[in-house]
Amino acid sequence: MPDASYTYVIVGGGLAGASAVRGIRAVDQDGSILLIAHERVRPYNRPPLTKDLWFGKKEVEGIFVGKTPAFYDDNRVELRLETTAVALDPRAKVVRDDQARTIGYDKLLLATGGMPRALDIPGGDLAGIYYYRALDDYVTLRPRATAGATATVIGGGFIGSEIAAALHTVGVHVTMIYPDPSLVARVFPERLGRRLQERYQERGITILAGDAPTAIELSGSTYVTRTKNGQVVGSDLVIAGIGIRPATGLAEQAGLAVENGIVVNDRLHTSHPAIYAAGDNASFPYQALGMQTRVEHWDHALNMGKQAGRNMAGADEPYHYMPYFFSDLFEFGYEAVGEVDARLDTFADWTTEGETGVIYYLRDGYVRGVMLCNVWEKLDAARALIQRREKVSPEELKGAIS
Ligand code: NAP
Repeated sequence: MPDASYTYVIVGGGLAGASAVRGIRAVDQDGSILLIAHERVRPYNRPPLTKDLWFGKKEVEGIFVGKTPAFYDDNRVELRLETTAVALDPRAKVVRDDQARTIGYDKLLLATGGMPRALDIPGGDLAGIYYYRALDDYVTLRPRATAGATATVIGGGFIGSEIAAALHTVGVHVTMIYPDPSLVARVFPERLGRRLQERYQERGITILAGDAPTAIELSGSTYVTRTKNGQVVGSDLVIAGIGIRPATGLAEQAGLAVENGIVVNDRLHTSHPAIYAAGDNASFPYQALGMQTRVEHWDHALNMGKQAGRNMAGADEPYHYMPYFFSDLFEFGYEAVGEVDARLDTFADWTTEGETGVIYYLRDGYVRGVMLCNVWEKLDAARALIQRREKVSPEELKGAIS
């Protein structure tokens, strides 16, 4: 017999897990809900951790899901923080947590997100290196990020590009190290990535592109980072954003299908019908793109979590939403949707090159993704273009969205 049983158990206190509460309650007002969260704070939105919190546009109190703790009482949710689910038995429909409690469920959601990858180099595990992902990282980094301090930012993807801009804005001297020749190389066409990289340099950010750290050591209170190309960078702070690994351990242990994430169908249940997955950890059929994939962005966690909650409560609806993502790199802001992969063919329709315009990502002449650069409120037009699934030429795309 489990120690306690609930209609719905949500494992994971990120945005997908918290959004599932909204989804469940939209369909079922009565079933009991337990949300198990590893962190010490209730679920929050992550985008402000590298953006608004640094620019004075938000305070920490403003980033939590549902704004106040009353959200959980209002929705009759038992929120169990600082708790990790360590074992799952799909046959017995029981989860065990790290305090040896067994919890029964009718429907379970695995919204376990992802864990930051760590640098596999000597000193990669030194205390004080930020593998930047959680609110605690912001809370402890912010007071150390004083004007005149120095920071080494490792990785030139989403975290690296955004935290470098944030740190620079508060007066920190930043050196970035990343293996690609240009900024956010997995997403930006190289010409745009190089242009933005130059803008970072013009602002005074030092960039070691085409390079990678090989060792980090602590000399007094200075982190000394050595690189493949023979550079030696000393700094007060080291912040790394080198990608995440989906947290699939519980699913694997339970024998669920896992392949680049926990495999779910369009109803978001896993290979076990009473167990659902949503968010960064889930590999789902992206209907508009006709591919099984994983998406690691805020809007996806929000909507997929909500849909999983609805379906757990009996809605039985397909997840056909096309999530977008967004970023702000100094004055360059963008929103993007679909398969925004720099390895595809790209056609850039600029009003002002490198500043305002639309980039189309194509495979075999079909639009797969769209990036709207300082162009706003056009996401639905971009979604429609992708969904049209018609072969197009660059000439036809010129001015298609503006
Ligand atoms: P990411 O965007 O995948 O970028 C990882 C970066 O680290 C890439 O530049 C990668 O280079 C580089 N890298 C990999 N191994 C390295 C090494 N050993 N040394 C130096 N650099 C290395 O991942 P992330 O920036 O860590 O972001 C983590 C997650 O947060 C992602 O899921 C992302 O979607 C999410 N996030 C999203 C947003 C947004 O939507 N605006 C903002 C922040 C975070 P290669 O490309 O050569 O591998």
